[in-house]
Amino acid sequence: MTVFLVGAGPGDADLLTVRAARLLAQADVVVHDRLITKEVLDLVAPGAEQIDVGKHPGFSDTQESINDLLVALGRRHGCVVRLKGGDPFVFGRGGEEAQAVAGSGIDVEVIAGVTSAFAGPLLAGIPVTHRGLSHGVTVVTGSAVSGATVDFRRLANPDLTLVVLMGVRRRRTIARELVEGGLDPTTPVAVVERASTDQQRVLRCTLAQLGEMNVSSPAVLVIGAVAALDLGRVGALAASYAMST
Ligand code: SAH
Repeated sequence: MTVFLVGAGPGDADLLTVRAARLLAQADVVVHDRLITKEVLDLVAPGAEQIDVGKHPGFSDTQESINDLLVALGRRHGCVVRLKGGDPFVFGRGGEEAQAVAGSGIDVEVIAGVTSAFAGPLLAGIPVTHRGLSHGVTVVTGSAVSGATVDFRRLANPDLTLVVLMGVRRRRTIARELVEGGLDPTTPVAVVERASTDQQRVLRCTLAQLGEMNVSSPAVLVIGAVAALDLGRVGALAASYAMST
């Protein structure tokens, strides 16, 4: 009688935590989002039921029915896994799901995941902080769906790296507001699409060019001096090293 809110990471099954992989193999039922890759779902126990509750961007009205579903499944099964992309508590409404389940008297355990906010830049060879270039990193949503839109003018800061999730659609507005806030239009930008999957693509441009770039979701926007760095495919190198030892 436990609902496990499990972080699935950005897509590559090798980036699951050991605990996440163990729970997938033990689950009675797995409830997952649209962004979860086949590679990760292949680790689900063969007999387990899989329910896709994939929501499309812009439609959040099914959240309540997902919460109800988790509660109902939690009452029926011993091990319910709610699989969420990246880290369950970095956007994606994991906090609300944890509250709904716990509020119904069912045990809930949250398993951290590798967030695309940090793995995305890393897999493009970009350290989000780097001595002399960036003293910190701000992670924000670029989406305006929830009504509480971030004012990017207030986030313009050349000393920090800005990582924007769900920012593809509004990238032109985001770039404009940052420039209005005082950020140099020549500030480097990297866009990392489908990080860690075999369709990963990295685009580089300046803030002034961001609006014109052809970008598809899911992608993270990395804005700041570090976005000009390319320190190699750090993740891929680490993986091949691990396999050869
Ligand atoms: N909890 C997730 C974020 C959910 S919001 C996490 O921690 O990663 C969904 C947004 O995450 C997408 O719009 C995109 O900006 C980003 N995202 C998720 N997976 C991604 C991936 N593989 N590559 C690039 N961006 C990704």
